[in-house]
Amino acid sequence: MEKPKTLQEAIRYFSNEQVCIDAVAKMRWPDGAQCPACLAKEPYYLKTQKRWKCRDCRRQFSVKLGTIFEDSPIPLQKWMPAIWLLTNCKNGVSSWEIHRALGVTQKTAWFMLHRIRLGMKENYGHGPLNKLGGPENEVEVDETFVGGRKQNMHKDRALRYEQKGGAQGKAVVQGILDRTAREVRAKVMPNVKRETLQAEILKQVKYGSRVYTDDAVAYEQGMQWRFVHDMVNKTETYVRGRVHVNGMENFWSLLKRGLRGTYVAVEPFHLDRYLDEQVFRFNNRKKPMDDYARFEKVLGQIAHKRLTYAELTGKTDEAKTTTPEPF
Ligand SMILES: [Zn+2]
Repeated sequence: MEKPKTLQEAIRYFSNEQVCIDAVAKMRWPDGAQCPACLAKEPYYLKTQKRWKCRDCRRQFSVKLGTIFEDSPIPLQKWMPAIWLLTNCKNGVSSWEIHRALGVTQKTAWFMLHRIRLGMKENYGHGPLNKLGGPENEVEVDETFVGGRKQNMHKDRALRYEQKGGAQGKAVVQGILDRTAREVRAKVMPNVKRETLQAEILKQVKYGSRVYTDDAVAYEQGMQWRFVHDMVNKTETYVRGRVHVNGMENFWSLLKRGLRGTYVAVEPFHLDRYLDEQVFRFNNRKKPMDDYARFEKVLGQIAHKRLTYAELTGKTDEAKTTTPEPF
């Protein structure tokens, strides 16, 4: 069967469990299946059970083990179209849409979407090679504030919100765009202090890069030591040649359209994951990426990632270490 191009085709294509398993296995283990426990190669495939058996440690495992699908009773035939939808719909998808399209409960759909967002999270890696910028590249840095309406919140949700929130209960998001590579990175920040915002730039951008920011206090001093730095005054109506942060502003408007439209009420608690989703969409929107390539890319990123229901709802101690810093 030919690879699907539309959602309809994807639903049909992935209606067979073995096709789903093969697709996930191929992206997860490009060099052939591997035991998640002892990493031994070439396990036996038990066809009737649709599981592998390790030659060394003798453990059995499904393709879901050690991925965002682990412990999920939802069949892969539903996970695949859900991934397709979230990665390919320009403005995102709500849990209600998944609920209607795939016949799972809205609560289940909400949980699935958060796990898929974790799959969309890019792994930048460490070290200078993985940084943005470079001698020829222009980099934009900008911040935006994202806030919910507290008065409509349930009482303990409002309390949690307040504990996490700053003075106005708004979350600060910093975005960095490599204009040349057309890659954006965005992150919820604990505050707008100079050391906080500049430390993140140092972490993400190569020394010597040309960096454009607005003229916020946080950027007035210090930037010139590491970067060729220029500031834009956002209140002025004209653009000084290439010195602007319009690319980042474009990203913010896409983010906020998604947050306001599709995701009716986003707790700041979950903002990082919505950011990951929007970053993925932005960075993979252009050719040579097509719908299938975007879908496959997420399948390639689902391993070694887990998100439990307790973590997601903030009901465990563990959650405190895996959720974003207070903002
Ligand atoms: Zn093993």
